[in-house]
Amino acid sequence: MPAPPCASCHASRAALRRPRSGQALCGACFCAAFEAEVLHTVLAGRLLPPGAVVAVGASGGKDSTVLAHVLRALTPRLGISLQLVAVDEGIGGYRDAALAAVRRQAARWELPLTVVAYEDLFGGWTMDAVARSTAGSGRSRSCCTFCGVLRRRALEEGARRVGATHIVTGHNADDMAETVLMNFLRGDAGRLARGGGLGSPGEGGALPRCRPLQFASQKEVVLYAHFRRLDYFSEECVYAPEAFRGHARDLLKRLEAARPSAVLDLVHSAERLALAPAARPPRPGACSRCGALASRALCQACALLDGLNRGRPRLAIGKGRRGLDEEAMPGTPGDPARAPTSKAVPTF
Ligand code: SF4
Repeated sequence: MPAPPCASCHASRAALRRPRSGQALCGACFCAAFEAEVLHTVLAGRLLPPGAVVAVGASGGKDSTVLAHVLRALTPRLGISLQLVAVDEGIGGYRDAALAAVRRQAARWELPLTVVAYEDLFGGWTMDAVARSTAGSGRSRSCCTFCGVLRRRALEEGARRVGATHIVTGHNADDMAETVLMNFLRGDAGRLARGGGLGSPGEGGALPRCRPLQFASQKEVVLYAHFRRLDYFSEECVYAPEAFRGHARDLLKRLEAARPSAVLDLVHSAERLALAPAARPPRPGACSRCGALASRALCQACALLDGLNRGRPRLAIGKGRRGLDEEAMPGTPGDPARAPTSKAVPTF
């Protein structure tokens, strides 16, 4: 049976049905609609003002590849300039190949690329070294917790180096819904209370961040990459199978099978979520060590690195944070009364 005509141009045969709307479109009309929706997200949310220098967090994966490609296409409409910033976490057998994909994209699209490495920024720590350290403490399943915090800091550092005024990341609707589910499952009222807006406005001197693909489903991101013939790296990180996120992903898939709107429902519920004032996190202040935004004595990155440097990585996450913060409170950076560290604690 021949495919129906495209519901938009009526000239070509439809090549897909949009997963949520069921609309039958040809590849060209789908890509145009996808780009128009991202443009609407950026304009309606006032995410990227004209003149912004935008650092795109580029991992080589499908999401950041699609984001960079779409924003590049929208650059004349938005009046922005783009820089690719890639983070090398130091994951053997994975990141090198992903970075190669980012370098190909930068060359093909003629976009400047800057790579920042954990090893240089965080006193010699790579993710492989973190994984070895946490394995001994029984916290190897927490690799992504460490990595997520450090990557956020590394991306901020890379963006500052290139003079960016804004940071964009490729998180899609499925990523956001998984995060909301994870926060519920962990009972993390603080993160839930921050809601799931389109990004952060740049409190405490941090650069504003946003997620222009936040309302785009993973399926449509993949379809866009397919029809635009984008070259991206699709292998999974070696530490991903251990991540708690995988359980949230499985649960979300089952929810979506029963209720197709589950992903966007979760994204929107996080946007609207308002907890009782008592459950809201304290007003963020400055990290006592590096000065970055922090809701406790140490920011998350310094807390994690402190635990690693003491050979007690479990201190740095979960309930152990309290002990770490208490230890960190009296001292100042460089205070000899602090416990000795095996590696220099970086400044940012
Ligand atoms: Fe880092 Fe986890 Fe992502 Fe691997 S899967 S790059 S460890 S956050």
